[in-house]
Amino acid sequence: MDQALSGVLGERSHKALTKAFGYQTLGDLLGHYPRRYATRGELTPIAEIPLGDHATLVAEVVSVGQRSMRAKRGSVLEVVITDGTGLVTLTFFNQAWRHKDLTPGTRGIFAGKVGVYRGTRQLAHPDYELFSEVEPGEEAYEEWAKRPIPLYPATQAVASWQIAKAMAVALDMVGDIPESIPEDIRTLEGLLGHREALEKIHRPAEHRDAVAARTTLRFHEAFVLQCALVTRRYEQRLVRSVPRKPGELTNAFLKSLPFVLTPDQLSVVDQIHTDLVAPHPMTRLVQGEVGSGKTVVAATAMVTVSQSGGQTALLAPTEVLANQHFRSLVATLGPDMAARMNPVLLTGSLPAKEKKKALLAAASGSSLLVVGTHALLADAVAFADLGLVVIDEQHRFGVDQRETLRQKGQHPHLLVLTATPIPRTVAMTVFGDLDVSSIATMPQGRIPISTHVVALADTPSWFARVWQRVAEEVAKGRQVFVVAPAISPTVVEEDAQVEGDAEEPLAAKRPLTTVEETLPMVQAIPEMAGARIRALHGRMGSEEKDEVMLSFGAGDIDVLVATTVIEVGIDVPNASLMVILDAERFGVSQLHQLRGRVGRGTQPGTCLLVTHAEADTTARERVEAVASTLDGFELAAKDLELRSEGDVLGVRQSGSRSRLKLLRVTRDSELIDTTRRYAEILVEADPQLVTHSVLRGDIERRFVDGSREYLEKT
Ligand code: ADP
Ligand code: MG
Repeated sequence: MDQALSGVLGERSHKALTKAFGYQTLGDLLGHYPRRYATRGELTPIAEIPLGDHATLVAEVVSVGQRSMRAKRGSVLEVVITDGTGLVTLTFFNQAWRHKDLTPGTRGIFAGKVGVYRGTRQLAHPDYELFSEVEPGEEAYEEWAKRPIPLYPATQAVASWQIAKAMAVALDMVGDIPESIPEDIRTLEGLLGHREALEKIHRPAEHRDAVAARTTLRFHEAFVLQCALVTRRYEQRLVRSVPRKPGELTNAFLKSLPFVLTPDQLSVVDQIHTDLVAPHPMTRLVQGEVGSGKTVVAATAMVTVSQSGGQTALLAPTEVLANQHFRSLVATLGPDMAARMNPVLLTGSLPAKEKKKALLAAASGSSLLVVGTHALLADAVAFADLGLVVIDEQHRFGVDQRETLRQKGQHPHLLVLTATPIPRTVAMTVFGDLDVSSIATMPQGRIPISTHVVALADTPSWFARVWQRVAEEVAKGRQVFVVAPAISPTVVEEDAQVEGDAEEPLAAKRPLTTVEETLPMVQAIPEMAGARIRALHGRMGSEEKDEVMLSFGAGDIDVLVATTVIEVGIDVPNASLMVILDAERFGVSQLHQLRGRVGRGTQPGTCLLVTHAEADTTARERVEAVASTLDGFELAAKDLELRSEGDVLGVRQSGSRSRLKLLRVTRDSELIDTTRRYAEILVEADPQLVTHSVLRGDIERRFVDGSREYLEKT
């Protein structure tokens, strides 16, 4: 499986596969599973093909015609194909010779990008393979006709059947494949052998072969992943760290709070304290909606660690957030505790003199709390006694960064905070090496936010109404966020999860709404005369960003026109309305995060999701889903569901070797549970996997290099 593709395939073929998918080895290629199967008798419903997608169709030729071009010399061959209900025109320029193959009645597979020309769907210069070209050979015709045709994730450069050909060569080359799943588990679960499973997923003789193969390979994927996570967690347990007992300071701190902790907060604090007194480092993820009170929980851990002189480093994804964390921690700790812990801020934009001071405070131990951005990871940053690492918003950081910071202490405890709700089995897969705590209930007294979809495709006039609402809110002395997906026509916020296929031709899409165009538009609205309106986005200098955020927080700005830089953490209780433009261009979870920014004070919050998405599209469904519930867990599951569906035979590239292939974290939760149990038994008995060398190799191959990214970003 580790054999280089270059030794197996012809040069052109292996180069094309490496370029398209990054594949280097036989194992990489064999792991490129068919997206689905077609049979020679079937036809693809042409009406369902999404425009702009690279699609693979099974169809029949209806007619062939040729015309000369008016503007240029040359001719166009137009071939009409059908599924029996709809028509698609294939066009070829100056390739008249093809009419000999593409005769009416011929069936085949056709692949290309779906466009529209004068109202009809067309594929320009598609690749195709005709079934008449396939030699039945010795095989009985019937058997040949019912043999499933694998349809692979393909690209414009490499068509599905070219992949199938390469796969055949690869399958003939590989000999025995050693098993990574122990035999007793395979028998118990009724799984195929690995070699057989690969054969049957790529070259099934009939449909049920492919089904059995997928079941085995999906199990294999889940099993290897869980073994990787369980061994990693096991390794963490072997490490010794300094136990940190809660004491007087912890009690004094909890007593000093102006409120009592909710039962959820208390139980998470308890879990953290149990972890902190253990002799191995805590590795805990705390998830809770925005505003659920994670900061206070983290602050309690910091105080506990400080009892014995231990320092805390808090890593935030952006300068704005680092600043805000710093301020809110200072406020939460209260004057006495803050004086004792002497918190310092360390960010890239700090003047050299201040930076030097902060570095010294960290290294000497005179500061027990250092809050910062990536600047914390620099070599120059050292700690006297780093006892706790707190990471805000896990999904922005990789394991590498987490570990770089931890290296600065003697196995410090780790606390990760996330406001992205994660269903249990997803957490087990994505953060499988962390213990997970949840703060599920919000502190009392918060009025739930109401969310409405403003569907401009249905009623364009609502756009004007949106700005009236903004003006009304400002007139009441409240503050408004207006969020746009892009900064300028060419600049998208770096960390924006803007939806859509990057390969899609720009012309096919509405351009993204930008902060640069929205700001003057809002300023020009007559009702907004006198309102203080400012922009905020990631391309502004961090001083300016901070100044804008501070003024907005102080109530000196009425309307903030911003990108997703406001997504996390920014706390402005007087902000009561959020308008999100091009809402369909954001992810479900991101929309949920964004709206958490309003209604944080005593005013009820409102969020308007403005969209051009047509009814009954996935894009629209995503936006509607956000409006339909405030349950972040439900939304996270919905998000995954909507993402994994979509294209019919259309193909979106998903080649990266570190991605999940057959496993789906929500749908396969039972399988994840099952394989987790097997993994725990197996690792318990043999933590180093000494007697499971094949499995060990699999873990290394699939998850060590790719894992970092995969484990964090899936
Ligand atoms: P998160 O970090 O989870 O988004 P915060 O910790 O910033 O949430 O808390 C949001 C607000 O709620 C803060 O103003 C905080 O002081 C307040 N808060 C936290 N816990 C409680 C509680 N148990 N009762 C009342 N208010 C609370
Ligand atoms: Mg917070």
